[in-house]
Amino acid sequence: MAQVQLNNIGKTYPNGFEALHPTTFEIAEGEFCVLVGPSGCGKSTLLRMVAGLEDITAGELQIAGRVVNHIDPADRDIAMVFQNYALYPHMTVRKNIGYGLKNRGISKDEIARKVDEATAMLNLGDYLDRKPSQLSGGQRQRVAMGRAIVRDPALFLFDEPLSNLDAKLRNQMRIEIKALQRRLGVTSIYVTHDQVEAMTMADRIIVMNAGRIEQIGTPAEVYHNPASIFVASFMGAPPMNLLSASAVDGAVKLGDQTICQTQHQGPVTAGIRPEAFVLDATGPFIMDVQIVEELGAHRLLHGTLNDENVTVHIDNEVTAVAGPQRLSVRPEAVCLFNVMDGQRLSC
Ligand code: ATP
Repeated sequence: MAQVQLNNIGKTYPNGFEALHPTTFEIAEGEFCVLVGPSGCGKSTLLRMVAGLEDITAGELQIAGRVVNHIDPADRDIAMVFQNYALYPHMTVRKNIGYGLKNRGISKDEIARKVDEATAMLNLGDYLDRKPSQLSGGQRQRVAMGRAIVRDPALFLFDEPLSNLDAKLRNQMRIEIKALQRRLGVTSIYVTHDQVEAMTMADRIIVMNAGRIEQIGTPAEVYHNPASIFVASFMGAPPMNLLSASAVDGAVKLGDQTICQTQHQGPVTAGIRPEAFVLDATGPFIMDVQIVEELGAHRLLHGTLNDENVTVHIDNEVTAVAGPQRLSVRPEAVCLFNVMDGQRLSC
């Protein structure tokens, strides 16, 4: 049974703006699902509807088989972790974490036990008597996690929880959160605009754009088989190269070279990931390399191919210099898109 089920859930704000078009999907028990998309695409709106912080204006939401459209947030058996941590500044770490339990009439001993257990798990044992202002950003984020954990919820909701942390800490915390979620096995919905976070943390990614779902899939599916140009350009850094091609009598041609086969006819957009190009002295394409970007473990070549911008990823044992370089393309890695609506075509 799905833990969370959205049946044609939609949101129109009182001013008439449709922030979420009717949307249907389900999240399995224990799954870590990441909602990702650019600013304003509706991901926070969707998360807040699941949390009960925003009215649902269309459709039905079920959590653990129960319709919760009109159930108060406090009675939905969820715990939410916010971007700004939402800690009480005058309370110690211990009190911040235990506070929600006190209100639920749980005994003092039981609260102490749960707080000890959570803080041990989060490496916060040495900070129990500190106030939030005496903690680092990462420690504050852990306190917010602790508060969610002690509630023992059926569902964790995360709203961009790492966006206030610097890049290094963000990398560390995303591993910690993922490991903790695995260990606890609690179904989770995580909102971010950061595609790297989505790729590294998710069991399944839901890519949103302008109030609609563009694609739902595992990180590998979304990366290797994007359903649209939007997904192809949003997921992956550097993004997929998008090149003008034409399909004639079953062959897709980039310039005068065939790169794959299709049943489509006419102009198409060929999507080729930077690592799907191969430096190849006998390759059919000539790239004019303008910049070689050194990234330690690998290099990126930036330049043009048939007058269009391309980026090519090469391993660092392969040497490359600016100027003309011959390339080939792995045909199985080419994605084709409709030039009119940006949707994926078969090849
Ligand atoms: P961000 O990453 O910037 O937080 P988001 O994807 O979470 O963006 P939402 O906050 O869900 O986006 O907003 C989706 C759309 O709904 C935006 O265009 C926003 O302006 C609009 N919106 C949000 N709240 C309201 C409201 N109360 N009334 C009208 N429109 C709203």
